[in-house]
Amino acid sequence: MKMTIDMPFVETCTVSGCGYNKDEKCHARAITIGDGVHPGCDTSFLGAPGHTHENNLAGVGACKVMGCSFNSDLECGADNIAVSMKGDSVQCMTYHAR
Ligand code: SF4
Ligand code: SF4
Repeated sequence: MKMTIDMPFVETCTVSGCGYNKDEKCHARAITIGDGVHPGCDTSFLGAPGHTHENNLAGVGACKVMGCSFNSDLECGADNIAVSMKGDSVQCMTYHAR
């Protein structure tokens, strides 16, 4: 059985060292963002060999960053997000402080 869930897409991710990344797209089914304060990608798997089901583009399953203006009830309300390295951490670049 498959579930169809309406989620924001991870439109781009430039973190080429993550096992879910291919050609600047995330191929996890869904990712989780945030540790409660910082909008890091909790799903990142740096240095891992590729897991890339090509047809599968990731959605944002959950986000724990309540301080982001797109966050509602611990879910992301943006149409899509972009993920990239910021300093030495992987972050949601769509984050916007309330
Ligand atoms: S969004 Fe996260 S899990 Fe997906 S490719 Fe980028 S770093 Fe990896
Ligand atoms: S845009 Fe905001 S609410 Fe959406 S995933 Fe990024 S930090 Fe979370």
